[in-house]
Amino acid sequence: MNKLALVKSPLPKLAVWKFASCDGCQLSFLDCEDELLAITEIVQIANFPEASKTNIPGPYDISLVEGSITTEHDKEKIQDVRKQSKALITIGACATAGGIQALRNFANIDDYKNIVYARPEYIHTLASSTPISHHVKVDFELQGCPINKHQLLEVITSFVTGKKPAISSSSVCTECKKKGNICVTVAYGMPCLGPVTHAGCGAVCPSYRRGCYGCYGPKETANPLALTHWWEKELNAEAHTIQGLLRNFNCAADTFREASEQYEQ
Ligand code: SF4
Ligand code: SF4
Repeated sequence: MNKLALVKSPLPKLAVWKFASCDGCQLSFLDCEDELLAITEIVQIANFPEASKTNIPGPYDISLVEGSITTEHDKEKIQDVRKQSKALITIGACATAGGIQALRNFANIDDYKNIVYARPEYIHTLASSTPISHHVKVDFELQGCPINKHQLLEVITSFVTGKKPAISSSSVCTECKKKGNICVTVAYGMPCLGPVTHAGCGAVCPSYRRGCYGCYGPKETANPLALTHWWEKELNAEAHTIQGLLRNFNCAADTFREASEQYEQ
């Protein structure tokens, strides 16, 4: 990191919070093995229960929030996190769009509870899974399932040094073409969400000759219906295939949700 000179003492305090999630995005932070020591030179990691028993009380300069809101307790806790945080950054598809657990939003939550749990009366959950931005002001959303650790480092250093994070707003197709991949749609007739999905994963799936599942959520100004109508016409894609692709890790992101509703059976 070449921005250390810009950081003032005492170091800004950083906290990491978990809501309904699999912890994968927090693990992406811990996966910054080579950079973690450098991070501790620009921020004080004050509260990160996944990584340390140390819990330095707030307020915090930066809060990273993973996970979606799925309980009444979550709704109260996120208000408290917001009050304690100068900047609140959501990380991952759960926090930015409701996550895979937002599939409940398209069904009856009582049906799920009755199917999954022997004693559903003990389950206290909301009928929907919602992103953090539906509950409090969010200063930056970092998309992805899981997030890209290099993008996370860019976001943290940018907030510490007071600049806008340089996160590309291009699509997975851009990354795919840069890698020199053969397009799975053109070559093999596979539906691929790459044209409407935010860059960040490095086009992992197309690199292994699979269509993109949209893990990084919709890119800015995406028009998924233009793409899916083309799939129907040119690839004979069926409604349940299209809806299944749109209803994945980012099923409740508005752009994907609205498109998926056009394919209700
Ligand atoms: S966005 Fe994906 S990796 Fe991150 S916590 Fe949610 S399910 Fe896990
Ligand atoms: S394989 Fe998918 S991501 Fe790659 S260029 Fe084709 S449509 Fe875009």
